[in-house]
Amino acid sequence: TTQQLWQAAKLAGVGELAASIAHELNNPLGTVSLRIEGLIAKTLPEDPRRKPLEIVGGEVERMAGLVANLLQFSRAGREQVSTVDVCEEVTKTVELIGHHLRKHGVRVLPEFDRKVTTIHADRQHLRQVFLNLFTNAVDAMPGGGTLVPRVRPGHLPGGAPAVVIEVTDSGVGIPAELQDRVFEPFFTTKEDGKGTGLGLAICRRIVHQHNGTLEVESRVNAGTTIRVTLPVRPDTNVARLRD
Ligand code: ADP
Repeated sequence: TTQQLWQAAKLAGVGELAASIAHELNNPLGTVSLRIEGLIAKTLPEDPRRKPLEIVGGEVERMAGLVANLLQFSRAGREQVSTVDVCEEVTKTVELIGHHLRKHGVRVLPEFDRKVTTIHADRQHLRQVFLNLFTNAVDAMPGGGTLVPRVRPGHLPGGAPAVVIEVTDSGVGIPAELQDRVFEPFFTTKEDGKGTGLGLAICRRIVHQHNGTLEVESRVNAGTTIRVTLPVRPDTNVARLRD
């Protein structure tokens, strides 16, 4: 439909813009980062010049993070589909950020119903989705909390066999009026440039490329669940592809 075409074009446009910005920023940022590290290495801990250098270094690192996000966003189109065990990918992603989770006092309590949780998908892109959802959950629980990744067999609205992945946190929640907007590129409520607003837009793009669906359920001060439903075979229901 026109609506679908328009949405796809809009996202493709963001991807192109993102790619060119990221490309232009990548090398100079690398140079600045290296130089600052070199300068910091030359100062003693008590040197008054050290602190400002470290601040600049930290800011440069944040810019590098944004660039990495933009690159990821623009690359999301190239898929490498193979057989993937969703439980295993969730577990691997939790391990990957284990340090980050512990540092923020986040307990992880997986609930896996392992009957049929193997799907055809792009492993890297799937991990990117879980990574983004987990880091958002951590950000939503500044005083620590509980993260529950759930995986179980299920169905898409049209009846196609699917695997359902839910990521539940006990965090600050999302106000009802913002729940539709969180998937928009560059929508963020994180202050001081901490957020890029691309995390959930990347998730949505990847999930839709797999012909899956993405839903949010949230209550302020209670927590948030993001539900991802991915078809076991993404190619059997291409007609379902939306925005
Ligand atoms: P970013 O994390 O860079 O802000 P995202 O697209 O990942 O970008 O998220 C957009 C916004 O959605 C966040 O700024 C936050 O307001 C909200 N959000 C996402 N996940 C959660 C969550 N688990 N709990 C509360 N708010 C969330």
